[in-house]
Amino acid sequence: MALTDSLHPLVFDGHNDVLLKLYRAGGVAAAESFVAGCPGALDVPAARAGGFGGGFFAVFVPSPTDLAVKFEEMTKPEYQLVLPDAIDWEDAFPVVMAQAAILFELERLGAVKICRTVADIRAALASGVMAAIFHIEGAEAIDADLHTLEVLYQAGLRSLGPVWSRPTIFGDGVPFRFPSSPDTGAGLTDAGLRLVKRCNQLRIMLDLSHLNEAGFWDVARHSDAPLVATHSNAHVLCNHSRNLTDKQLAAIAETDGMVGLNFAVAFLREDGKMLADVPLTQILRHIDHLIAQVGEDRVGLGSDYDGAVVPEDVTRVSGLPALRRAMQDHGYGDALIAKLCHENWLRVLEKTWGG
Ligand SMILES: [Zn+2]
Repeated sequence: MALTDSLHPLVFDGHNDVLLKLYRAGGVAAAESFVAGCPGALDVPAARAGGFGGGFFAVFVPSPTDLAVKFEEMTKPEYQLVLPDAIDWEDAFPVVMAQAAILFELERLGAVKICRTVADIRAALASGVMAAIFHIEGAEAIDADLHTLEVLYQAGLRSLGPVWSRPTIFGDGVPFRFPSSPDTGAGLTDAGLRLVKRCNQLRIMLDLSHLNEAGFWDVARHSDAPLVATHSNAHVLCNHSRNLTDKQLAAIAETDGMVGLNFAVAFLREDGKMLADVPLTQILRHIDHLIAQVGEDRVGLGSDYDGAVVPEDVTRVSGLPALRRAMQDHGYGDALIAKLCHENWLRVLEKTWGG
């Protein structure tokens, strides 16, 4: 009997921006709409309809820039978006608290289970409640003394991106450029290196997805954990600054790390445009290349749902059965599909967090 049906294996995914969506929709008061059904890509009914088992729930402090303008700019043949200014700790901290409060409210409502161990994730996947990892994308709310890191860890934080693309006290991120190498500027600061060390000690997973290449190599040199990019694609197939070169992929393989495939169309398409008419076969081309570079145990999904324009066949998580079908049609067997859908994430998290 085939183990892959339209809703299985469940997808456990490297990145979503649901907390930002609910923050913009009214904060904690909007959490109930996630249970009943709300606009956008991900909510409880769509997750049930698509076999979405959970993933990394990003807390993200938005810059005042208009996303619609940004996505419009990214439909041009070439673009170099100007990065928003750095955000001060005083401004970032209340936003991170507000979005974390939404996550705790989602748990109180029974919509998610905040997972601190891989055993927690396995139990959530088996129970039908969405598994949520408390992740922060961009460490603006963390102070140079790392006191807030300690407190956030105690509150359940298990994954952290030292930067979103804008600069922080910890380093520079990669701007949105096409065509462009990811080698766009300076790497981590001394505070950034201290952050890496402390995350290693606490076993908080470090997410490399928005670091520029210099920052990536700084983490590679200083971290003792597997290298993980939660939502990035293959640079050789899409010459975008946000994607990973084969050299970076080799380093990820060497540390037994992981890449989550980003559905954002600008990082999938050969022309780098943020336009949704992308066939699912283009996702599979990237997965094929990632598997060729890092091996089939080190690739998963990192959709960027509710944070990006995604291919029209998987606009909402309820569309995920189409991706499972496309994987089967592409010749992937049940075992590989299970690895891609969630097993590889559990594997790398076990290595990073401990058993
Ligand atoms: Zn991102």
